[in-house]
Amino acid sequence: MNRRDEIAACLTAVQERIAVACTSAGRDPAEITLVAVTKTYPAEDVLHLAALGVRDIGENRDQEAAAKAAAVRSAGGDVRWHFVGQLQRNKARSVAEYADLVHSVDRPQLVKALADGVRLAGRPSLDVLVQVNLDVDESLAEERGGAPASTVLSLADTVAATGVLRLCGLMAVAPLDAPPEPAFERLAGIAQALRVDHPTATIVSAGMSGDLEAAISYGATHVRVGSALLGKRALLG
Ligand SMILES: *Cc1c(COP(=O)(O)O)cnc(C)c1O
Repeated sequence: MNRRDEIAACLTAVQERIAVACTSAGRDPAEITLVAVTKTYPAEDVLHLAALGVRDIGENRDQEAAAKAAAVRSAGGDVRWHFVGQLQRNKARSVAEYADLVHSVDRPQLVKALADGVRLAGRPSLDVLVQVNLDVDESLAEERGGAPASTVLSLADTVAATGVLRLCGLMAVAPLDAPPEPAFERLAGIAQALRVDHPTATIVSAGMSGDLEAAISYGATHVRVGSALLGKRALLG
């Protein structure tokens, strides 16, 4: 099987899982955006995905993402770039050049760096999500990324106050130390609280290859799927 057919077969299987999860949850699959996480895979795979109709592409490292975005653009690929990884302040300027949605805003210093990056990049605005840490042991947050739940609403206000970062919702990764369902249920509660003051912050980015069904049952609007689409990664990503 050639690579495009291989990805097409995986894509059909993932779309089927999303459809089944939506049926069980009484949701419309049209509410779910599939973000294909292409970290460690080449720009050619992004072009295959785009040809198959997947236009939302996720990356977690700036250096790799910047190069891939440039390669895809020069090959005529038209996709939306989602930055889903932990972000260092000194990479914010670079990410602001190519990202369409940054999922991983988790501290005030990063809000400022990204807002400065947007201005330096000369773009009017950048869409962002606040990442929530769902680990039971919050001391894992530093290593795993995400703002402690208790700080999410104030961080969201900080984002909105920049004027150039558009607060679009929340992102989370399932906890390492607990089952995903109660964690995604907590996330749904935080998302609801967020929408009281920020009614347009409607995105909930949750769920990966192993737990997308649980995320959809608790209201995810975006699922971030890597290995189920592209294969098991050789490197840890
Ligand atoms: C790698 C990654 C994914 C995709 O993980 P898979 O288990 O391969 O589907 C999703 N979200 C983030 C933040 C990631 O880093």
